[in-house]
Amino acid sequence: MAQLSIAGSGRSFQVMIGRRAVSQRRFTSTGNAIAALPGIERSLRPATVRSCLCCGTAFASAGPGNRLCDPCRQGRDA
Ligand SMILES: [Zn+2]
Repeated sequence: MAQLSIAGSGRSFQVMIGRRAVSQRRFTSTGNAIAALPGIERSLRPATVRSCLCCGTAFASAGPGNRLCDPCRQGRDA
């Protein structure tokens, strides 16, 4: 995992990896940027590939609660 840092001054801060801004928006304080770090880290984490519990197809899981592939999940919700 690359190290996130916060860059900016005054009323404009961004979350960076190296020299690349990774936050979708600018923050008005370092405190706001720090508060957003966990969510940004989560969004940067590579998706885990799991097998669907329903049909066994490998798919990119969005998280621990995501164990069905999209077609199975949509079929179930419908
Ligand atoms: Zn499935």
